[in-house]
Amino acid sequence: MAKQYETVIGLEVHVELATSTKIFCGCSTKFGAAPNTHTCPVCTGMPGSLPVLNGKVVEYALKLADALSCQVNRYSRFDRKNYFYPDNPQNYQISQLYLPIGHDGALTIHTGGEETLPGSLSGHSANNKETLPGSLSGHSANNKEKTIRIHEMHMEEDAGKLIHDEWEDCSLVDYNRSGVPLIEIVSEPDMRTADEVIAYLEKLRMICQYLGISDCKLQEGSMRADVNLSVREVGSNRMGTRTEMKNLNSFKAIAHAIEGERERQIELLEEGKEVIQETRRWDDNKEYSYGMRSKEDAKDYRYFPDPDLPPVVISQSWLDEIHASRPEFQEEKALRYQRDYGLPAYDAGILTQTKRMADLFEETAGLSGRPKEAANWLMGDTLKLMKEEGMEAEELAFSPEHLASLIRAVDEGKITRQNAKKVFAAMFREDVDPLIYMEEKGMTMVTDTGAVEKVVEQVLADNPKTVEEYHSGKTKVLGFLVGQVMRQMKGKADPGQVNRMLLERL
Ligand code: ADP
Ligand code: MG
Ligand code: ZN
Repeated sequence: MAKQYETVIGLEVHVELATSTKIFCGCSTKFGAAPNTHTCPVCTGMPGSLPVLNGKVVEYALKLADALSCQVNRYSRFDRKNYFYPDNPQNYQISQLYLPIGHDGALTIHTGGEETLPGSLSGHSANNKETLPGSLSGHSANNKEKTIRIHEMHMEEDAGKLIHDEWEDCSLVDYNRSGVPLIEIVSEPDMRTADEVIAYLEKLRMICQYLGISDCKLQEGSMRADVNLSVREVGSNRMGTRTEMKNLNSFKAIAHAIEGERERQIELLEEGKEVIQETRRWDDNKEYSYGMRSKEDAKDYRYFPDPDLPPVVISQSWLDEIHASRPEFQEEKALRYQRDYGLPAYDAGILTQTKRMADLFEETAGLSGRPKEAANWLMGDTLKLMKEEGMEAEELAFSPEHLASLIRAVDEGKITRQNAKKVFAAMFREDVDPLIYMEEKGMTMVTDTGAVEKVVEQVLADNPKTVEEYHSGKTKVLGFLVGQVMRQMKGKADPGQVNRMLLERL
């Protein structure tokens, strides 16, 4: 019988912090500036320059440590990780090895149910009603909850960026990213499937977004995951030799890379060969990983405490303050939506997937007084358009004020639902004021009964034959009369109201 293998995965995730300045200097962290314009002697490694720690970085790290239930090293330090590479102008990276800011935490994930599609993960992966966390309706058999242990988390600086592809005979380097603050979160090897890995990354991203410490965009590199993977025979409690995969910039690439690497390792073992511990680079176009370098050990980096930076000492009162200011996370929020707004668990789960969407929902619900309607617009038209445009919730442009006034206009019969959808599409593109837009496009309905009455009477007077037919029993002609009125009103009347008015007069 063929051997059965189990995949063992541990992740090293880098999260770029959303501070306005870098970790050890005052340079801007803004993305997309002209190369080497956000630089100074500190972040370009000029001899004699001295780093000064950005307090916001410590605050953000503590917030994350709190959310991940980590133990905090109240006496923490920075260390130099020495390596030579042109993206690293100091020839060392300031990181934390011996006393990381946090350790021994945990992250609970939910998987299971219908297959989680790796492609559908851009903020609304919850395509299964049974697997949503925060469901009031209890746990379904499909909903697997699992706790992934966090080994440690530490603060460090990012490196610059090498640009190879514009020139054939040279490489360029941009130090704008050099010194941008990062938190690295290292998990224990507790994951077994790509679904678990993706659930872990989504949960971590959601926590960072809710904390407001990072936008965690894989495509833009503000969240980067290195996948450590080994295989072993099912039932074995010995760990296999692992490889580390880099360059994974989408959930899809991660799922593919896990599948590909698992197969590559199993094949080696089946042939009686050994897996070599190394760093591999995933090429998503070729769907194959290449060996980059044999795995280096901590000792290769000659780590030592950075003498330029004093230790970081954290008071208990600061920790207490951080804990007290913890935001309401997704699960609690979803439960509250079900309780306070009467939303189904599924809707509450979807609307709380991103903080942006949750905020939009609550503000619109408050302003319009119609939570169900607000939920419908966000889960229906909004998600559909976002999917079509490949957009993230953070990029949504319309304001809750405008969505609320559109909801009110529909409620008051000022616009048909069909036209309201058109108005919404315009709002989605550039946050137009729905009332002005409706007026401009001639979509505003005539709610003035007097005006409609006039047209009704005119139509009855113009069609005496039809009226006669109606009275002789051919009641179907009513539809024709309604149509006539609607045509003269250019569709801007409520057909139900027209119907009633005609009946009253016939
Ligand atoms: P290093 O210090 O060499 O980077 P770590 O012990 O810090 O190694 O582990 C790095 C990552 O690799 C962690 O996320 C850990 O969970 C994971 N890992 C360690 N051993 C294995 C293994 N045998 N299989 C899969 N992942 C592993
Ligand atoms: Mg490591
Ligand atoms: Zn600088």
